[in-house]
Amino acid sequence: MSDNWKSRTTAVHAGTRRSQYGEMSEAIYLTQGFAYDSAEAAEARFIEAGEDEYIYARYGNPTVRMFEDRIARIEGAEDAFATASGMAAVSGALTALLKAGDHVVAARALFGSCLYILEEVLGRFGVEVTFVDGTDLDQWRAAIRPDTSAVFFESVSNPTLEVIDIAAVADLAHAVGALVVVDNVFATPVFSDAVAQGADLVVYSATKHIDGQGRALGGVILGTREVIRKKVEPYMKHTGGAMSPFTAWIMLKGLETLDLRVRAQAANAQAVAESVQHHPALARVLFPGLAAHPQYDLARAQMGAGGTVLSLDLKGGQPAAFGFLNALKIAQISNNLGDAKTIVTHPATTTHQRLSEEQRAQLGITPGLVRVSMGIENLEDLLADITGALDAAN
Ligand SMILES: *Cc1c(COP(=O)(O)O)cnc(C)c1O
Repeated sequence: MSDNWKSRTTAVHAGTRRSQYGEMSEAIYLTQGFAYDSAEAAEARFIEAGEDEYIYARYGNPTVRMFEDRIARIEGAEDAFATASGMAAVSGALTALLKAGDHVVAARALFGSCLYILEEVLGRFGVEVTFVDGTDLDQWRAAIRPDTSAVFFESVSNPTLEVIDIAAVADLAHAVGALVVVDNVFATPVFSDAVAQGADLVVYSATKHIDGQGRALGGVILGTREVIRKKVEPYMKHTGGAMSPFTAWIMLKGLETLDLRVRAQAANAQAVAESVQHHPALARVLFPGLAAHPQYDLARAQMGAGGTVLSLDLKGGQPAAFGFLNALKIAQISNNLGDAKTIVTHPATTTHQRLSEEQRAQLGITPGLVRVSMGIENLEDLLADITGALDAAN
């Protein structure tokens, strides 16, 4: 397998394991177990399984392994462990590393379920968590202590699209020997260079761009072979958050077109953000690819693009936001993101409904805020749909 392949070649070919039939499309090994040639072979495999030797699908499976190898190559990580969902990846990465008495520093702007793990779950097991404004390096500097074990943040926050400086936070964390765990969903593997920037573990919800077609839940934890095989794999394989072989096959097929889809989505997002930024119905357009975004330079340096999601803050508050959503014909009201189809979400009444009004205000989740996950539809159609609905809401 060539180490010099560029990203799209890697996305189509890396990790492929062909059976004796030479199938073109990756085989789905829909089996939980594997037969051994002899009792001695079974014993030997339980002592130490070789590179392509499997025991039980909760530990590993050839189709899942193809996905893990391929995504690791794309991400530039040594190894990966695939999980049943993005949350299995987030909770697995954190609980595999942490123990009672440990201290974690996390950015406050988090996906609701991530916040639940950090606020509710880790605390119950005696892990202390300090929350900071992720964009403020002084807050990270003040919160990270000599005994801090890990830091956790979403490199681009949902839904306000703040960009966190991976390299700068990693420098502060590594200075005290803390591990850096990055939820990198909004950056996508296409625009990510998180390992080179200092992330020790990179986590994706594969449900989002990696599937990209709204079919299956999945996730993946990426990092060094040492951490993945010595810490993450033992934890994941005994606690049961493994990815199913069928899901791995869906995700493998998703990876083949990931680069094409994500670049098309990001181009649409950039064009729509530029086109609507001065629309009279809008108080703000949040998109890291706009020069007006507070972390525009960081986004360019860290990702080389603004990403595939933008948020529109309508002046008329919730009534205007609902009017906008209800006037859209192509964009669908739903709560996934990274899909080939454009999806619009009203965070205050759906994904972030659980938060108090005060918490929402602190995170910038206003009643008029609408998150738009750009799809791959034709730009002309999307622009007509979005500007038409903004006109209607105005
Ligand atoms: C969706 C999402 C998750 C959770 O992923 P699931 O696949 O839904 O479990 C975690 N973090 C971020 C940033 C997400 O967008």
